[in-house]
Amino acid sequence: MIHPLTGPQRANWRCVRSFTEGLRACTPNVRPRPPRKGYDPASVSSEESHLPARAAERREALKEVFEQAQGCVRCAELAGTRKTVVFGAGNADADLMFVGEAPGASEDERGLPFVGAAGKLLEKLLGEIGMARADVFIANVLKCRPPGNRDPQPAEIENCQEYLYRQVELIQPRVICTLGNTPTQTLLQTTQGISKFRGQWFDFRDTKLLPTYHPAYLLRNPAAKADVWKDLQKVMAVLGLQAPKKR
Ligand code: SF4
Repeated sequence: MIHPLTGPQRANWRCVRSFTEGLRACTPNVRPRPPRKGYDPASVSSEESHLPARAAERREALKEVFEQAQGCVRCAELAGTRKTVVFGAGNADADLMFVGEAPGASEDERGLPFVGAAGKLLEKLLGEIGMARADVFIANVLKCRPPGNRDPQPAEIENCQEYLYRQVELIQPRVICTLGNTPTQTLLQTTQGISKFRGQWFDFRDTKLLPTYHPAYLLRNPAAKADVWKDLQKVMAVLGLQAPKKR
């Protein structure tokens, strides 16, 4: 007998589907990389044997971290008010990873990051440099929505950063783009604001990191899009991709 899912179970299932479907959808975009040392191809199911070994391994490891996060109650208030845990979505073998602050109402509802107005702008910016969501991985510092979209509290950031670090460790992007204050301050371990660091390169655990403005800021300050455009061109250059000559 099949038991109907309860509200939270249904939300979690939707979230699992979103994440796994997101990974599956972007499989054709996965760029083959050499298998990790010690990797055993026999551990991949026949269904996945067509995938680059590295991608299949990352996807499985990411799923495990995803499942751990689903039941996370480290932040009592957030765990009590969220509809879904917004783990992140995209290409498990992405060269480029974006890190934002926290889910908003739309993200909490759908279980996916950057799906509101700011997400649409991010997609548009990606499109302008010839990329799509399926080419990159998008995550937030916090995986649960702060009530009323309030700022994340330091204790919540500390509670959640293990998931983010694990995502970076498994995806091993060549470039991380932090969007706005919170992810920049979290990954660079600083209290300085985004304007001090925007457009400059930093190292985060052997990965190049470039802070830029959050798309939500661009919605309020459209003139700042020119700065983000310059930043994205720098990212393209590091990735060895040809940046469009003009907007
Ligand atoms: S924000 Fe992160 S650490 Fe806090 S309850 Fe959600 S998943 Fe857990």
